[in-house]
Amino acid sequence: MIKAIVGANWGDEGKGKITDMLAKEADIVVRFQGGANAGHTIVNNYGKFALHTLPSGVFYSHIVSVIGNGVALNIPVLFKELNELTSKGVPMPKILISDRAQMVMPYHILFDKYEEERLGGKSFGSTKSGIAPFYSDKYAKTGFQVHELFDDDALRTKLAEVCDTKNVLLEHLYHKPLLDPEELYAELMEYKKMVEPYVCDTALYLWNALKEGKEILLEGQLGTLKDPDHGIYPMVTSSSTLASYGAIGAGVPPYEIKKIITVNKAYSSAVGAGEFVSEIFGDEAEELRRRGGDGGEYGATTGRPRRVGWYDCVASKYGCRLQGTTDVAFTVLDVLGYLDEIPVCVAYDIDGEITKEFPTTCLLAKAKPVIEKLPGWKCDIRGIKNYEELPENCRRYIEFIEKEIGFPITMISNGPGRDDIIYRESPIKAGF
Ligand code: GDP
Repeated sequence: MIKAIVGANWGDEGKGKITDMLAKEADIVVRFQGGANAGHTIVNNYGKFALHTLPSGVFYSHIVSVIGNGVALNIPVLFKELNELTSKGVPMPKILISDRAQMVMPYHILFDKYEEERLGGKSFGSTKSGIAPFYSDKYAKTGFQVHELFDDDALRTKLAEVCDTKNVLLEHLYHKPLLDPEELYAELMEYKKMVEPYVCDTALYLWNALKEGKEILLEGQLGTLKDPDHGIYPMVTSSSTLASYGAIGAGVPPYEIKKIITVNKAYSSAVGAGEFVSEIFGDEAEELRRRGGDGGEYGATTGRPRRVGWYDCVASKYGCRLQGTTDVAFTVLDVLGYLDEIPVCVAYDIDGEITKEFPTTCLLAKAKPVIEKLPGWKCDIRGIKNYEELPENCRRYIEFIEKEIGFPITMISNGPGRDDIIYRESPIKAGF
């Protein structure tokens, strides 16, 4: 069976920790979308790691880590990450790379950078990892799948054609140095050497694993609000962040995805530009940012300070619904222990109309948060293992949010480590 671990919001909800934790009982962890533009932070016995391309199961020797066809595969970044792991004493993980995964080409990163420069103040706040140019090429059908590295003549011909068109833009739109197909070819041959031992038909591998009764985790990147269809378009990412896309990006039957664990953080954070109704500013924000996550709310890939805000029931209810949530994992709750009162966004006020349904981007820009304050618990909840042992106000906070979003909170994370987790029976049933 398959479990998907996905985010309800803007990303950075703590999916890496939950995946790492669930991987203990699983056989395979698959990345199915996104690229090296975001990252997961994982704290375990080996130390603290920021993973960008590798699935979060890489720390277990029993896990096979799969880079699915839906991923934007940056080969040098992947291998740099593998080296980092092994140099810190982590055994070399078993990895498989889809022969249909498309490669982030060196020029995708250049185009990302040039376009953000060209847009100036109107830029998307891209991490300049080449993701938007990569997916543009994928859907314009000018991208390169990994297996193309192994067909020399076809590769050279296609490279020459692609360079011809890219060079028109480089010369006339961006006024930058032109691409040389020979240089690119040489770089791709380096990529080929790196990936060769790991490339296979991963969808077939997963099909066979399912037949053998293996447990597979699909690890999402970012969250619902960054989905190109259902998110805060255009301030979204370029590949779908929804669990349902896991079926496509991993090449598995959709009906096999039996559990969808949507990770919600106990407050909100976002990296990059875009609508964020419950955002806070000034000293209040600085304090939450400093205390947030594990060592502050700063991007795992970029180190950029994250924007922070209070928990947004409207966005999270929507985020959980679009994911098809069966379970909510409620994370980073320990961080809120310093507050006397905890503000929660329970509705939006849009031109005087109060709504609990997440609107389209144009309306979102006008939305003001309707805030309700709950009493804080004013203590450290790390180390607690049973739900009943949590302070009463902490349980009230969880139960209030659960009722607002209408999805069962069955896991509560009260620290960054693998074992900082409280399981709970929820009175709410997922679905209709
Ligand atoms: P992801 O992209 O969804 O995996 O999230 P990130 O890794 O970017 O951000 C989550 C951050 O919160 C990381 O630094 C985690 O180590 C940390 N974290 C995860 N769960 C908890 C928790 O329950 N408490 C605390 N304090 N930190 C947590």
